Amino acid sequence: MNVASFTIDHDRLLRGIYVSRKDRVGEETVTTFDIRIKRPNIEPCMDTAAIHTLEHLMAVYLRGDEQWADRTIYVGPMGCRTGMYVIFKGDLSSEDIVDIMKRTFKYIIDFEGDVPAAASKECGNYLDHNLEYARWECRKFYDEVLENIKEENMNYPM
Ligand SMILES: [Zn+2]
Repeated sequence: MNVASFTIDHDRLLRGIYVSRKDRVGEETVTTFDIRIKRPNIEPCMDTAAIHTLEHLMAVYLRGDEQWADRTIYVGPMGCRTGMYVIFKGDLSSEDIVDIMKRTFKYIIDFEGDVPAAASKECGNYLDHNLEYARWECRKFYDEVLENIKEENMNYPM
């Protein structure tokens, strides 16, 4: 099996925004981003309810954003619960999405009310949400990583 993301040294991986891969689809390039919210194997991963709520809010924000809605292909949690995958149309770098990620995380930090699409008809596990915990994780990631993001948080360790 040759999966590029499995070759990254997860013991040295920091939190940040990384280009996981780029794929050609017909004439287009799509860029898969690794939005790494937790340090793998160093700190506890996210709670399942928190990352589930984060998924709903991230998808809603990106699909409603004037600039990014049409470029947003996919938003989903990593199985290891240390981050999210976001796929955008275009040949993009980490720097290209710092602003939209800042806005997305701010939206979640400030979100109040009912989690979107979290009724039983709309969600596969509607009881498994935790808005307060999602907001807490987003605030931590924003303050400690996103706000003053550095090169080492945008390039995979060599
Ligand atoms: Zn859901």
